[in-house]
Amino acid sequence: MKAIRISIPRLVICVAVLAAITAIYSRVLHVTAATVTATFLLDVLVISAFWGLTYALVTSLLATLAFNYFFLPPFGTLTIADPQNWVALFAFLATALIASQLAERARTAVLVANRRRRELEQLYLFSQQLLSTENVLELLNSIPRQIVGNFEVTAAAMFVSSSQKVYYSDLSVQELIKSDELKEMFGRGTPTTDPERKLHASILRLGVRPIGLLAVAGEDLSRETLDNMANLISIAIEHVRAAENLNKSEAARESERLRTALLDSVTHEFRTPLTGIKGSVTTLRSNPALDESQRQELLAIIEEGSDRIDRLIGEAAEMAQLDAGKVALHIAPHDISEALDVALERCRQSLEHHAVDVKLQPDLPLVNMDVVRIAEVLQHFLTNAAKYSPPDTPIHIMSEIKDGQLITSVSDHGPGIESFEQSLIFEKFYRGQDQRSIVPGTGMGLPISKAIIEAHAGAIGITSQLGHGSVFSFTLPLA
Ligand code: ADP
Repeated sequence: MKAIRISIPRLVICVAVLAAITAIYSRVLHVTAATVTATFLLDVLVISAFWGLTYALVTSLLATLAFNYFFLPPFGTLTIADPQNWVALFAFLATALIASQLAERARTAVLVANRRRRELEQLYLFSQQLLSTENVLELLNSIPRQIVGNFEVTAAAMFVSSSQKVYYSDLSVQELIKSDELKEMFGRGTPTTDPERKLHASILRLGVRPIGLLAVAGEDLSRETLDNMANLISIAIEHVRAAENLNKSEAARESERLRTALLDSVTHEFRTPLTGIKGSVTTLRSNPALDESQRQELLAIIEEGSDRIDRLIGEAAEMAQLDAGKVALHIAPHDISEALDVALERCRQSLEHHAVDVKLQPDLPLVNMDVVRIAEVLQHFLTNAAKYSPPDTPIHIMSEIKDGQLITSVSDHGPGIESFEQSLIFEKFYRGQDQRSIVPGTGMGLPISKAIIEAHAGAIGITSQLGHGSVFSFTLPLA
């Protein structure tokens, strides 16, 4: 039962207003009894609507006495001569009581509706906050604090059965809500309330399975709000757990895929030059009578093979560094032709069977870039174009300004790339299915290029038509 709290100042105001009405009507205005009852009723209604039933009842009783004493003959006494006036007096009293009851009901309905609305708003905010984290531990730790922050409660604690741990809104709450008590309430399996400490608890359930218990202390929260809160928490915990498991299994799958791809690529790519080196060394050792030109040929195979292995190791190391974000860029305003000259010089040998046609838009502005790295990207594009297109077909290089950015492209007349492969070729170690057994490569050139361009806040892209060729391009922000 709720204790009735009465405010003396309010009571004084009720009496004073009643006294004022009585004084005005009995001394100054001299109105009819009907006007007096109407005014008293109005007073009772207003009081009931704003301050509640208790004040209205007191006012009604006092008004009945005042009506009898001042306005029903014989005046100045509490006796009533005419039986008709008894009826008038009781009619007034009954009307005042019923009206104050009705006004009180309306007032409580408004209060309850307002409270529900506020609780709904708080629940909505709370649900938004629950969705903001993707980590189970972070979520569990934050829930009790968010409850205290969002709802009008002073303490919150949550017991999670899978870990048998209790999470508190702050450490001092441990004294108020003991962890053993929470476990015991959870064991009982029913919602609990302790009116003395204003402690309310609700079971966290997923479907019918209990997964924990939520306890709050402080102001009275409605049971619906507490249960809704418990439902939201159960769903959020399960949602984050499921997301974490999915991420873990996705990460495990991805690392497994990379491991297999790396192993395939590395075993194949290392084995080919190593076989050449090993064969050449064996021949050199077992045939001391080889002539000079044969010896030189075998030594060239050894040199080429070692260079290739060296390049492979270099690319793998660079890839790992780019992945770890450890590559520092030396960005400064440069002309794109600086990077292009470096790349063309380095690719001279691979490009010897291709005519290279360079078209740079006149007066190109400077771009922000690390020349060495951008030259490296161009080098990958150019060696791929040479590697994957038939000898004696031309390769075109273009650079122009488009949409406020510098776009540079390398086009070839090679076999083109199937549309399903166009995004895959930028993934680590991916090698085109038609090329992987014919043309040597590691599947690292394009992912390295992509990482470099993205570190420059640019974008890498490809357009290709099967049987006609491919265009690889990248954009760079202007200086
Ligand atoms: P690699 O050339 O060592 O295989 P890349 O990452 O440079 O590695 O390229 C990945 C794949 O993209 C290649 O295996 C090839 O299938 C495809 N590719 C790249 N450039 C071209 C091109 N110019 N024409 C056709 N296919 C290409």
